[in-house]
Amino acid sequence: MTPCDEPFLSNLDIFLFSLIAGLIVYWLIFRKKVEPIPEFKKLDAQTTRETSFIDKMKKTGKNIVVFYGSQTGTAEEFANRLAKDAHRYGMKGMSADPEEYDMSELSRLPEIENSLAIFCMATYGEGDPTDNSQDFYDWLQEGDADFTGVKYTVFALGNKTYEHYNAMGKYVDQRLAELGAQRIFDLGMGDDDGNLEEDFVSWREQFWPAVCEHFGVEATGEESSIRQYELKVHSDLNMNKIYTGELGRLKSFENQKPPFDSKNPFLAPVTVNRKLNKAGDRHLMHLELDITGSKIRYESGDHVAVYPINDSVIVNRIGEVLGVDLDTVISLNNLDEESNKKHPFPCPTTYRTALTHYLDITNPPRTNVLYELAQYATDPKEQENMRKMASSSPEGKALYQSWVLDSCRNILAILEDFPSLRPPIDHLCELLPRLQARYYSIASSSKVHPDSIHICAVVVEYETKTGRVNKGVATNWLKSKMPTDNGHKATVPMYIRKSQFRLPFKSSNPVIMIGPGTGIAPFMGFVQERSWLKEQGKEVGETVLYYGCRHKNEDFLYQEELDEFEKTGVLTALNVAFSRDQADKVYVQHLLKKNKEAVWRLVHTDNAHIYICGDARNMARDVQNAFYEIAEELGGLSRAQAVDYIKKLMTKGRYSQDVWS
Ligand code: NAP
Repeated sequence: MTPCDEPFLSNLDIFLFSLIAGLIVYWLIFRKKVEPIPEFKKLDAQTTRETSFIDKMKKTGKNIVVFYGSQTGTAEEFANRLAKDAHRYGMKGMSADPEEYDMSELSRLPEIENSLAIFCMATYGEGDPTDNSQDFYDWLQEGDADFTGVKYTVFALGNKTYEHYNAMGKYVDQRLAELGAQRIFDLGMGDDDGNLEEDFVSWREQFWPAVCEHFGVEATGEESSIRQYELKVHSDLNMNKIYTGELGRLKSFENQKPPFDSKNPFLAPVTVNRKLNKAGDRHLMHLELDITGSKIRYESGDHVAVYPINDSVIVNRIGEVLGVDLDTVISLNNLDEESNKKHPFPCPTTYRTALTHYLDITNPPRTNVLYELAQYATDPKEQENMRKMASSSPEGKALYQSWVLDSCRNILAILEDFPSLRPPIDHLCELLPRLQARYYSIASSSKVHPDSIHICAVVVEYETKTGRVNKGVATNWLKSKMPTDNGHKATVPMYIRKSQFRLPFKSSNPVIMIGPGTGIAPFMGFVQERSWLKEQGKEVGETVLYYGCRHKNEDFLYQEELDEFEKTGVLTALNVAFSRDQADKVYVQHLLKKNKEAVWRLVHTDNAHIYICGDARNMARDVQNAFYEIAEELGGLSRAQAVDYIKKLMTKGRYSQDVWS
């Protein structure tokens, strides 16, 4: 038989075809039954989530909704406090994450009588929305919703040392008005460079009377202390069902599965941890995290977020002072069954895990924590002081500022200095904010190090006014993460946060990088990348670095690497300001001004991109002023024109900052 005479399907083909078809039908019909039963019930609220906040408000009799755009948890805390406040005025509030709800429903808010939407909006980085408010922000920008009849107010959280102070709060406040909503109280401005807590308390103090007047309601009495979670102590739980520090999925640290993100961090082994400074009493360090096999991708300029844990000395001491067995297994369950947030942190867990992995025990507590804890101080004087600090009286605010903030008293110091204050540990765990991930500018290029992420950081340690030594949570923990060869690898839970801090698209464009101290971090990545591009035969423009440190022989970070890059011509100019090697301070901005002709040529004629990384409070501002002066002097501009000139560079993405305060 010639091939052409062959039947289309042989008997064997028909048999195989029938078998496959049968298997497909079987799989389609019966696959549900054979699906493995999940090992653990999902404790995350995802399954019960509903996206209509209007329906939820109606179902639960709420008339105030407090949305939060929160990156580090503060805006969320403020939102919870405002939602709780509502009870005092005979109203009912709920806090809500805009990411979890259909925000286009805002126009339906007037369906609820006497309703109000409050927005606690934090601004992140260079005027950006927080991750959880990005979609809401995009939607507001594009949308043309009609918010007629919607009543609202906004409290903005930000930091004055940044160029775009409270940009998000201002935007939401203005945009809602443009779309027809009615602002019932003025925008609140919270400045974290000053006293954010006080800004919030002062705003709130004026805000609620305005709400009362608007809706014709009255305060029903004192600020009440209402528990949000109830304690359940477990005595017979299988240890496999207890959270031991995971952020999302139970056992996610033992059984790692990509994709890795803030809820599912990757446990990256530390392969290098070395001290960078040659002398001096500080500890500056370089760490390398191994991301092999994680499928994690990053770009030069991105940030790596790490989840630190608290010092066991502080955790144990809290247990001791409160006289509790920290290994008790507990759950804190939300009393409001409709809430999307079932627990304040992953539960069931132990007090030890909660205090070690989940709760912030080192920052000074906010005034609401003091207010709620005051009831447990049995000494009337101590109780009075706590209430005073939580009040909005000028005397109380001053006391909170000096006794808590200026003295850097954390919760343990407060328990030690108020010996009669012995709250139940579960209430304390309910009140303390969550421990947050810490962000570091990545100090490597993914082109050169695709499987490793480098960090450059300084270990934080200082003595407080009370004589205690406070240690930075993350940097001290990172310092202790030594790569070991006895089979046990030190690991760091991490994920990547994308940034806008990017090298120019065209490698032939020149770059001017300014990064004193640990501000050098992203520029190590940038220089590595420019070197790699050069090796690939690409035309690479001038690459100029302005770096600053205290002493040449002490803290000149990455000196050998930088010298080598200069030698090979990747770094076309390496300018270093040693601030303490002579009588007068020499800073990066002094060197910029000294080289003003070259700087101006690069910026004005050669289209250079300028990058600044490091301290926001003083350095970034002083460097910006130096650029104004150079533009005035060499560009013949007035100060106003110079300011405008730099602003235009920023808009074009040619003046970028990665700064912190
Ligand atoms: P550093 O070693 O303290 O300072 C680096 C160099 O910058 C030193 O030579 C310093 O000089 C100089 N400098 C001081 N003020 C300046 C100014 N206004 N303009 C230009 N240069 C100036 O740096 P670091 O330890 O890496 O820290 C840098 C900054 O970032 C510090 O303010 C630190 O608080 C902050 N930081 C914050 C975090 C965070 O997580 N929030 C982490 C790390 C660092 P002198 O000291 O001799 O004046």
